[in-house]
Amino acid sequence: MATILKGRISLQVKISASYIAILLIVIVLMNTYPLLVSQDLVFRAKRTTLLGSASALNAAVAGLDELTEENVSQALSAVKAEGVSRAIVTDTYGRVLYDTREAGNATGRYVFYNELVEALRGSSVMYSVYKEGAFHSSAAQPVLYRNQVIGGVYVYEYDTQQASLLETMLGNLFSISVGVTVLVMALSILFSRQLTQRLGSLQDAIRGVREGAYNRRAILSGHDEFTQIAGEFNELVDRLQETEGARRQFVSDASHELKTPLAAIRLLTDSILQTEDMDSATAREFVCDIGQEADRLSRITEDLLRLTRLDSGVAEAPSLVPVAPVLERVVRMLRPVADEKGVEILTVCGSGTAVVSTPGELHQILYNLSENAIKYNRRGGFVRIQAEAGAEAAVITVEDNGIGIPEGDLPHVFKRFYRVDKARSRAAGGTGLGLSIVSDTVSRRGGAIRAEPVPTGGTRFIVTMPCLERREGEA
Ligand code: ADP
Repeated sequence: MATILKGRISLQVKISASYIAILLIVIVLMNTYPLLVSQDLVFRAKRTTLLGSASALNAAVAGLDELTEENVSQALSAVKAEGVSRAIVTDTYGRVLYDTREAGNATGRYVFYNELVEALRGSSVMYSVYKEGAFHSSAAQPVLYRNQVIGGVYVYEYDTQQASLLETMLGNLFSISVGVTVLVMALSILFSRQLTQRLGSLQDAIRGVREGAYNRRAILSGHDEFTQIAGEFNELVDRLQETEGARRQFVSDASHELKTPLAAIRLLTDSILQTEDMDSATAREFVCDIGQEADRLSRITEDLLRLTRLDSGVAEAPSLVPVAPVLERVVRMLRPVADEKGVEILTVCGSGTAVVSTPGELHQILYNLSENAIKYNRRGGFVRIQAEAGAEAAVITVEDNGIGIPEGDLPHVFKRFYRVDKARSRAAGGTGLGLSIVSDTVSRRGGAIRAEPVPTGGTRFIVTMPCLERREGEA
């Protein structure tokens, strides 16, 4: 629980943190970029106005060969320096000849503003800064007479109007930023919680199944990736439940199958022990029965082991196995049984017919099918085993004219422990596993098996198996 909770919190934190990081970047950009652009626009406007004002003053004093307080005042009396807070005209040494400021008028004093110093050296300059809620802008130009610097013009502007506009804009941006931040944070918490809750229900379902509740399913609404994962998880659990059901059924069937001969052995031994003075013929008969039950037990365990090996997926490397010699051996082994039952065995096998398998597996397939065809036959019946090669697959057919399999049972005969007639199968020494072993072996080698009724009576088993070896590296 702790780790899951920890996982959920950390995911929620991660999602919220990434939202907030993106938000911060947006807020910083939103609060700086417009400010920089607006400042730049104001600076450009100031440049035009101040240099224009300085030029106007300069033009008014142009033509004077020397600058004095009198001739400058006279020249500038009709000029109005537009949009400036202060205008100064100095001689070439920086002594103020004209100053528009009333309080603290600098006329007659020397001023050494940087702008003026540069103007007296012959350059036209302009500065503008924004500080303490105002734009401070200044410009200076040299006053020339026959290309000689005879003085300087200096204008200065203190502007709070533009600055307050800019500050209002900044204030508004800040309020919007705060609003957006609060909204985005609330939404990010909401979204991430929703997301982690969905993830949480998926985790709960996974944990439930892990603890053995195979009927647990993840129920998520919506159409996103989580719903898809939940759907796939549910399908996986469906299959797991099916496999688990089959496994339980198999264990229960296997125990039941093993119990029957064990119970018989127990009964027979009890009878021998409890019957005093049992004659040796009866005792011998009982012991013989015990032997038969023991045989049956060993047949069942052998078949179970075979199936377990097939289930485990560990398989010998296949090769191209010719069918004819294996079939010959099977027929040789089964001939005495067939003769005893009065059943004839017929074989048709192309000499070149081969399948991709192992000799042991092919023997098992042919033996089980042929033995069944003899076991579930009638006196005078026949078993026809045919093998023919196709382009990519070989077809092996085992047909009999025996008792046949009812249509309803046909789809089930390959299931483990399934028998059409339990008593007959037991009497014939069957375990109910023969066809499962055949079917599992065939499908493991990429083949297929089916059973069909023969119209004239009996059953036909048709096995298709690949007859082309896969080359190295092929899937
Ligand atoms: P068993 O050991 O009982 O023979 P199998 O798995 O080989 O088990 O076969 C399953 C059941 O299918 C048998 O019990 C039998 O009822 C039926 N069966 C199999 N082959 C034939 C056949 N050739 N003809 C009639 N019934 C068959």
